[in-house]
Amino acid sequence: MSKKKLLIVGGVAGGASAAARARRLDETAEIIMFERGPNISFANCGLPYHIGGTIKEREKLLVTTPEQTTAKYNFDIRIRTEVISIDRKKKEVVAKNLETGEEYTESYDALILSPGGEPIRPPIPGIENPNVMTLRNLPDMDRIIEHIDGKKTAAVIGGGFIGLEVAEALQERGIKTTLIELAPQVMGPADPEMAALLHQELRLFGIDLRLETSVTEFKESEEGISLIMSDGKKLTVDATILAIGVRPETTLAVDAGLKIGERGGIRVDDHMKTSDEHIYAVGDAVEVIDFVTRQPALIPLAGPANRQARIAADNIFGRDSIYKDTQGTSICKVFNMAIGMTGLSEKMAKRLDIKYEKIYVHPASHASYYPGSHPITFKLIFDPTTGKVLGAQAVGAEGVDKRIDVVAVAIRAGLNVTDLSEFELSYAPPFGSAKDVINYAGFVAENVISGDARIFHVDAAIKPKKNQKLIDVRNKEEVGLGTIPGAKNIALEELRENLDQFSKGKEYLIFCQAGLRGYLACRILEQNGIKCKNLSGGYKTYMMVTEQHQQISAIPEEETMNTDTGEKTPSSKPEIREPVLTVDACGLQCPGPIMKLKSALESVKTGESICITSTDPGFVSDIPAWCNSTGNKLDKLEPVKGGSYKALITKCAGGEASASIHSGTKRFTNVVFSSDLDKALAAFIIANGAASMGYEVTLFFTFWGINILRKKEKVNVKKNPIEKMFGMMMPKGAKKLGLSQMNMGGVGKAMIEGIMNKKNVATLSELIASAQENGVRLVVCTMSMDLMGIKSEELIDGIEEGGVAMYIDQIGGNANLFI
Ligand code: FAD
Repeated sequence: MSKKKLLIVGGVAGGASAAARARRLDETAEIIMFERGPNISFANCGLPYHIGGTIKEREKLLVTTPEQTTAKYNFDIRIRTEVISIDRKKKEVVAKNLETGEEYTESYDALILSPGGEPIRPPIPGIENPNVMTLRNLPDMDRIIEHIDGKKTAAVIGGGFIGLEVAEALQERGIKTTLIELAPQVMGPADPEMAALLHQELRLFGIDLRLETSVTEFKESEEGISLIMSDGKKLTVDATILAIGVRPETTLAVDAGLKIGERGGIRVDDHMKTSDEHIYAVGDAVEVIDFVTRQPALIPLAGPANRQARIAADNIFGRDSIYKDTQGTSICKVFNMAIGMTGLSEKMAKRLDIKYEKIYVHPASHASYYPGSHPITFKLIFDPTTGKVLGAQAVGAEGVDKRIDVVAVAIRAGLNVTDLSEFELSYAPPFGSAKDVINYAGFVAENVISGDARIFHVDAAIKPKKNQKLIDVRNKEEVGLGTIPGAKNIALEELRENLDQFSKGKEYLIFCQAGLRGYLACRILEQNGIKCKNLSGGYKTYMMVTEQHQQISAIPEEETMNTDTGEKTPSSKPEIREPVLTVDACGLQCPGPIMKLKSALESVKTGESICITSTDPGFVSDIPAWCNSTGNKLDKLEPVKGGSYKALITKCAGGEASASIHSGTKRFTNVVFSSDLDKALAAFIIANGAASMGYEVTLFFTFWGINILRKKEKVNVKKNPIEKMFGMMMPKGAKKLGLSQMNMGGVGKAMIEGIMNKKNVATLSELIASAQENGVRLVVCTMSMDLMGIKSEELIDGIEEGGVAMYIDQIGGNANLFI
């Protein structure tokens, strides 16, 4: 065989791998590697970690030097040399020595292009400023480190992999960092509710996260660079890093007339061959086929680049090697958290109209009784009929990589959810659970496919249909920390004795904290002939989807910065007391940490403080709510390196009883005096809302208000002539009420009812029914009944009669309205 001459453009991930494989296959080949930069084979993925100081020595990023590589592989390595053109006819390239300016030609038998992807710099005014920096290689990293040395503030533009890693690195160096992202979420390839968990983490670690914001101009200023943003605000910072993505470097390929794919990458076949049979291309510069969607895609990751490089070299040196597409398996560290994903996302499934079902589970990363476990939020996407695994995403402080990798293999192998449930995975308490996260997700998905579990998702919980009713089967303590509006609370343990509260004509939307108790509740209800569905992933998933926790940030200890002016303003530092008790609630999930805190507070005196540590990210949103509702003081809330969260709470006077959640019951009362439709609607909307928030609600109907509760049909009761006349003149029940204003002889009322119907707003009769279902007490004033001649028989079912004393007793020290 004649000696083959292989030229390679690019000497990092794809280029260096291709060269090494080529040498292993052919000891005689002449292999020349051109690299524009000063280094080959450096660890570009490690760059952010040197900026942040985790990788202390710069040399560690240099996996090898040209000299070492040449000695080992007998390559001809030409650094600081750029290939500037390709003559496909002559099978030659023109290379330019960037140090001397010398240009020369080099012929080839085969050429591999691995030029990578270049950071995108859109045409924003001022972007050409050299201090708007990007990060791609070691010189970029050195420039950033030099520039930020001693600086206090920075902005990172773009919340993708690199933006997130750089933002964390800067913050780790003590630089107050603002992260600006155009989309409503960071980590674009992930689904929004999964990314929402990162928003909380970023804010907790002090990142000023600005979503749905773009930079419209960069202005040089004396203090640094001023960023003008789409919301009109100005942000002046010492350093600016642009990380809004990369685009394939295709100039060489385009100039050489090679085919470019529809997504803008070099088009290659499954042998990594371009449209020229002597030229191969690999890495970030090429367009691949998405393994699941079968669509062309740009997926710039190091793993695919390395595998493609090996395949290109194989094919050049006579082996028939096929690249079997890219599934986008990736992971990113965001402070204590990691987000990992593989295969199809829900947003991609929607975009491409691919049929899918999804489930969420929130198990612990390893046996929760063994120290150091953390919850993992795991989302599995699968074919709703065959159960074929299509994708997964996971967020957590530990064990995300292992779970995503297992699913990545399952997707590759074309396995289904039953296979996941059957996987035998390594287990001992420090590492996992006997039912691993993967098995667990498999069980849940399998139940959905088999029809053993009917599930619903958060969109249905936010807007239930008319015949659906939300039931929260968590315990009172959990409900006290928040629930889904409109939900009625019947704890799982009390379900069997409350079956009479369920009607066969309705469908019940059941939820618990993470999904398991909801499933058990559904099994009980279904076997009693009651129609129901369980919220996949429970209230935790509801909180993620509605992003109710994302605004939470650490309670600041030190000075904060007014980022819009660049000036620093000291924040008032809360007085922090030394804790008298330290509570370890790690490994417990809601309401575990709160219950531990509650009993700990009972054992300390007013004015004393407790420090509690939890590994549950949900604790971060629970603890301020709990302190607020119990009257205790949250002095400090901060993340702890390694994946936990620490809160310092002071027991307050008057918050004595607050050491128990909802010390006594929270009550809400309302006097309903009017029989105007609009006022009645307001009364019942508020009552239902209060009931769903765990309040014990009483509506007290006096005078005209009693008419709201009258039956619509005539009831034969004995009345004197005045009572009869009164009875005839007053409206009979919810349907007969008029508006307080603009009634216009009933026209205004008809109009408003039409609008309510169109907007799917419940009618007054429906609101009354749901109030009764929610346990709202409807009490009519006996004295008013007597005055107006209304008899008990004329009222709808389920009404109590009472006097003022009973009503006052209900108010206690609680809220009271008068409508
Ligand atoms: P590169 O590795 O970028 O190599 C291309 C090289 O070609 C460059 O050095 C360039 O100078 C050279 N070149 C270009 N044109 C010419 C020319 N005409 N002549 C000579 N030389 C030329 N991926 C992950 O999977 N996980 C991660 O955690 C991760 N982290 C990352 C962090 C950072 C900061 C960056 C920048 C990237 C990260 N990536 C990560 C992406 C990963 O590094 C790339 O997917 C991978 O390096 C692509 O390999 P490549 O060979 O296509 O391109």
